[in-house]
Amino acid sequence: MEKVPIIKNEGEGGEDWSMSEAIFRFYEELNDFLTPRFRKRAFRSDLKGRQSVKDRIESLGVPHTEVDLILVNGKSVDFNYILRDGDQISVYPVFETLNIKNITRLREIPLRKTRFVADINIRDIVTLMRALGFDVYYDPLLSPAEIIRVSREEERIILTKSRKLLKFKDVTHGIFIRPGTVVQQTRGIVDFLTLRDAARPFSRCLRCNSTLIKVRKEDVIERIPPKTRALCSEYSCCRRCDKIYWKGTHYTKIKRMVDWVLNE
Ligand SMILES: [Zn+2]
Repeated sequence: MEKVPIIKNEGEGGEDWSMSEAIFRFYEELNDFLTPRFRKRAFRSDLKGRQSVKDRIESLGVPHTEVDLILVNGKSVDFNYILRDGDQISVYPVFETLNIKNITRLREIPLRKTRFVADINIRDIVTLMRALGFDVYYDPLLSPAEIIRVSREEERIILTKSRKLLKFKDVTHGIFIRPGTVVQQTRGIVDFLTLRDAARPFSRCLRCNSTLIKVRKEDVIERIPPKTRALCSEYSCCRRCDKIYWKGTHYTKIKRMVDWVLNE
């Protein structure tokens, strides 16, 4: 990228009035990369020539791979955004954390990577989350310690009805699911993380969490009940467990729940 040299113009009293600057604020674990005086507060940073927000973030010590969302004056921008004088820049990490509810409301785009690991007793929520297309690791045999380990190793947000589980010191990312119907609880997760636009209904296997691919009817015809063959023309197949999906009565029931979650 071409760098335009800034022309220094010394004003009266030696004040450099031509200097442009932006105000930065980094959130959550991104602060660990900053020098201490910049942590957890807004700070001014001089703009030297034409610079992308990505270059400036990295020059402040934060690897761009750790960044998921950048808001400039309240609007989300990509890494190529060229900084301007007076910009107010908020920078958010890839992985959601427990205590940023006030920030998620500002989000205009969903996180790139939002994945979950579910506690053992919320199978119905797991099914609906997967029907919405979200990646939810679920194994009813996992111990609390194993759930926490999966969360940390695979950067997955823990979904649980247990406050006790979220209080373990090793838990970094989790959502406490409040009482309600499965639709209300799932909608609560989607709203909390502003995930509505990230939903990809019926793109994921409800049984094993892998993604689905479309298959031709004639390629799977011997595995479809005869009644269904006549009624349905579209079929999908799980990439991992080979389960076949079609728009039958079970689909209609889940579709209704998906619509309830996603309706504004
Ligand atoms: Zn599957």
